[in-house]
Amino acid sequence: MPPSKSPATNPQLRATKPPATKLNAVIGYPLEHSLSPAFHNAIYQQRKLNTIMLAFPHQNITEVVSALRTFQVGLTAVTMPHKQTIIPFLNSVDPVAKKIGAVNTVINRNGKLYGYNTDVVGIAAAFAKMKLKNKKVLILGAGGAARAVAYFLQKQRAKMFCTNRTLSHAQKLMKEFGGKAISQEKIDPQAINVIINTTPLGMYPHLEILPLPSTFIQNHHTVFDLIYNPPETRLLRLAKKRGAKIISGMIMFEAQAREQIRLWSGEK
Ligand code: NAP
Repeated sequence: MPPSKSPATNPQLRATKPPATKLNAVIGYPLEHSLSPAFHNAIYQQRKLNTIMLAFPHQNITEVVSALRTFQVGLTAVTMPHKQTIIPFLNSVDPVAKKIGAVNTVINRNGKLYGYNTDVVGIAAAFAKMKLKNKKVLILGAGGAARAVAYFLQKQRAKMFCTNRTLSHAQKLMKEFGGKAISQEKIDPQAINVIINTTPLGMYPHLEILPLPSTFIQNHHTVFDLIYNPPETRLLRLAKKRGAKIISGMIMFEAQAREQIRLWSGEK
């Protein structure tokens, strides 16, 4: 039997070279809860973009950025714990992301890395049907996502209150964006219009945890939970039962992911 031809010498294989599939990524650690690959890949397929998003679950940011450059990743969705630590590796950071102090999107343009924060676009989509001016808004948590929320609420001229496990983090956040840090027991639920959960309490797999006592929620509240896995958390189910308006983190997630694709593809 004659030896089989290698791909390099087999003209048939050379002729059928596939078109180069582009690579996008989501980086963070852990990444089990991330819906970014599923959502992005569905959109790429729908729009016939010949691009794939893969998850790079890795803790070392230096190595991750090196891999992004080596593989010429076009769009990178950035999640915890890299949203802040990636900033020194970027060639340029958008002013909104700079003010928030967190980057959740990196676009590679001709080898240069540009950082953005599309969470604000997602938060704006979540409140598309609601005016927040002078509304009293209670933010639960004071981490990275809370910073994007506080930035948005400041622009909307809402009255902000923030409660957090570590009160000093809430104090720092409110000092920066304008509002009051307060321990949860001291807040009168009657005086609050909107509650925004920015903690991971209630996120998969810890579905039964509530970020505040169940008795706090009243029917005049609007409750927005940033968690998108599950799309309807225990907090939102409870709020619905009490007659409050609810907003799912899934609205934010989808809108911020679409904005990532818009930045990368350059579409209007
Ligand atoms: P982060 O920076 O780690 O901040 C987490 C916040 O929650 C901190 O204020 C932390 O308090 C508090 N917290 C954490 N564990 C707690 C616990 N066991 N008990 C009480 N408080 C606790 O995280 P992040 O990036 O802001 O993300 C927070 C959540 O938002 C996650 O569920 C994430 O999936 C979600 N998110 C959703 C979207 C979307 O598109 N829908 C976008 C971004 C984020 P300390 O200050 O005391 O540490």
